[in-house]
Amino acid sequence: GCKSSEVKAFPPCDNSLAKSDEITRNLEPKEKQLCLKVAKEHDVPKDLKKMVENKVVEVIPYLQDVNLSVVKMSFLKDNSCGEDIVSKSLSSHSDLITGIYEGGLKIWECTFDLLAYLADEEVQFAGKRVLDLGCGAGLLGIIALKGKAKETHFQDYNSTVIDEVTIPNVIINSTFEFEDEISEPDLKKRRNSNPTQQHLTKCRFFSGEWYEFSKFVLNSKKAFAKYDIILTSETIYNPSYYNAFHQTLANLLDESGQVFLASKAHYFGVGGGIHLFQKFIEEKNVFETRTLKIIDEGLKRILIKITFKHTH
Ligand code: SAM
Repeated sequence: GCKSSEVKAFPPCDNSLAKSDEITRNLEPKEKQLCLKVAKEHDVPKDLKKMVENKVVEVIPYLQDVNLSVVKMSFLKDNSCGEDIVSKSLSSHSDLITGIYEGGLKIWECTFDLLAYLADEEVQFAGKRVLDLGCGAGLLGIIALKGKAKETHFQDYNSTVIDEVTIPNVIINSTFEFEDEISEPDLKKRRNSNPTQQHLTKCRFFSGEWYEFSKFVLNSKKAFAKYDIILTSETIYNPSYYNAFHQTLANLLDESGQVFLASKAHYFGVGGGIHLFQKFIEEKNVFETRTLKIIDEGLKRILIKITFKHTH
């Protein structure tokens, strides 16, 4: 069942959002519940400096001339290895220990494929409304923000990820002058300077499950216009979520908007992957997809664009 206070249970009993199939298989049908993590909006605290002052910041040069800073899970004290980081956090953050953790604490490799593509193709964000769907560290949204997007929204399943990783990353990357080269001393300066809210007024942050998130933004009292661009990386690994994911795109994408999706060809263990997802899209008959790039090194990865099917 649903343990976290942020999770509410809905009949009819369908545990399609349970963490693993094992959990689902162990439940009798009558016990199955649809656990939808309630969506909420996260305010950016007034004291931005405080949000980043104890964080360990690292610069990741993902391309030759573009650097991004990332907060390295500083709330996990003296850890240095990826998987340990996750397990440590699981025991220290109630959001992650009692609920479901969906992978937002590390940066997944397809993010870098999509960042490179957006830069190579000079995809324009100026004046656009952008969503980083399943954002984790939020690098895709940060690039949109740097590209002068009119508004950039970030969504992750876990509220701890939004508070401890996404928001600090956006603060570090956007409230200071945007330079291409950031040296270590500059990073220190950044942390010691007093950031302003300037760029953050263009951002909104949300946590929660996808159905709940789309309902939340559409019903929110704040003005909402559909997104021109949705960026999403490594979000189609679990076929149980395809319905919610598809519906979110259908609800939130502007009629002439485009989704840039980065994914591994196949996710072993969970069963999702690009072919299954494209088949799902075809069957729904709402969107069409176009392959943008195939990265065929090691585990095959792929970039696709999704747009509404327009029947003339
Ligand atoms: N995009 C990030 C990256 O590439 O590093 C994170 C990828 S992580 C594997 C999957 C992301 O999708 C997480 O941020 C998670 O919170 C989100 N997610 C997965 N399933 C979800 C669901 N059913 N509802 C809402 N968010 C979900």
